[in-house]
Formats: sequence, structure tokens, C-alpha cells
Amino acid sequence: MKKLFAILLAGMMVFSLAACGGAGGTEESTGAAGESYVIATDTAFAPFEFTDENNEFVGIDIDLMNAIAEDQGFNVEWRSLGFDAAMAAVESGQADGCIAGASITDKRKETYDFSEAYYDSYVCMAVKEDSDIKGFEDLKGKEVAAKTGTMGAECAEALKDQYGYEIKYFDQSDIMYQDVDTGNTVACFEDQPVMAFNCQKPDVHLKIVADRKEDYSTPYGFVVLKGQNQELLEKFNAGLQSLKDSGKYDEIIAKYTGTN
Ligand code: GLN
Repeated sequence: MKKLFAILLAGMMVFSLAACGGAGGTEESTGAAGESYVIATDTAFAPFEFTDENNEFVGIDIDLMNAIAEDQGFNVEWRSLGFDAAMAAVESGQADGCIAGASITDKRKETYDFSEAYYDSYVCMAVKEDSDIKGFEDLKGKEVAAKTGTMGAECAEALKDQYGYEIKYFDQSDIMYQDVDTGNTVACFEDQPVMAFNCQKPDVHLKIVADRKEDYSTPYGFVVLKGQNQELLEKFNAGLQSLKDSGKYDEIIAKYTGTN
């Protein structure tokens, strides 16, 4: 009899714990009692993922993924690793997925599967506010900055010989901007929505250069390893659609960019 009571009690405790999880939801664990997925992301890629003034890790990607997890009933374990490391973590199976403003490209599709596109973007060049560099023609004999493994780096590499500059690599966007700001390198290559957002900050003294190469325009997608975690990919797509239908997607974009 005592044993039966203990089992009943244990059952009730499990039930109430699950109920608590459903009501709450922290950054590490969103979506209550469902499956848990390890999601890798970048470190400093505002407005998509960044640490805000309250020392909270926030952004469009973070809010989107958490809202999708809630909608689809799964948990997210976040890993803020840097872009190149986040993609590598998916490739090695250390992460189930990556959301980090990752551009959907044919080359990456050889290794990864992408969700439906969730944000449009393209690569731009940025220079110091008081620089007189107006475009690629002015980069001859100079050194520019790029972020390892990104579309910005791919753009810089593709045009390097044509315009005669050298490339210095960084793992993090904010450190790359600082290098241009201090005058070590004369320009950097970055996604336009990210560069535009960062140029408004008082501590970033860079401006976007008009000269633009159309080939590096690709929207962002959520990433899993090719042929793996297909159920997660389907949940992402289904969740994204329901956030778009409910207006929550527009709300998240507006929260971080002031537009939608
Ligand atoms: N969109 C770029 C890419 O996929 C940069 C992503 C990033 O730096 N987080 O290469």
C-alpha cells in the first residue's frame, strides 16, 4: 500500500514539474516537455544575436528560434560559438542546428540542409567614417578585414586579385570593426543589415560604401547537417509559417530593427 502511494506521488510530481515547465521557459530551455535540441549561433552579429545592455543574449535569431520552439513544443539549448565554429559544430554533430544569419548558398547545400529563407541580406563594404575610400578601385595595395567562413570573406577573396588588396581574417564581427576603426585595415566586408545596424552605434565609427557586388545577395536560413535532423528542419519551417501567420514574426523584426 505504501509502495502504491509512493508511485502515485512520484507520478503527480512528474506531472506538476511538466506543468511548471510549460508555464515558464528560460533562454536555455524553451518549449516545455518536448525534445531538446542543441542550437549553435554566432557571438556578436547584431541585430540577429548579441549581448544587450542588460547582459542578456538576444536578437532576431534568438527570439525567432525560441518562439518557433514554443510553437512546436521543443526545447532549445543555446551555444554561442561564433559563425565559423557554429557551422563546424553542426557539421561534426556537436550541434543539431545553427541559426546565425547563415546565407543560403549552393556550395553550403553540399554539406547542409537549409530551412525556408527567413531574412533577406547582401554583402557590403564598410570603411572608417572619415575615410575617402569610395569603392573597390581605392583598395589597391591596401589591407582589408573579413570574417572567417562568411559570405563577406568569400566576396573579399573573389575580388582580391582584380583589385589588388590583402585580407586579414577575424572570427568575430565586433573585433573586425575595431580593426578598421583603429586604422589597421582600411575596409571590412559584412552583411548589410548587420553593418547598417552597427553603424548607428556611438562606439562604431564606420560607414557603408555604395560600391556593391550583386553576386553576394542571399537570404538567411536555419541550418542542419545534410540528411540529418530533418524533423527539426520541418518543425522550424512549420513554426516559422505559424509565426508569420500570427504576426509574431513581424513583431520580432520590428522589435530589433524598427521596421518590418
Ligand atoms: N550571412 C553571412 C554568411 O552566412 C555571415 C553570417 C555571420 O557572420 N553570422 O556567411
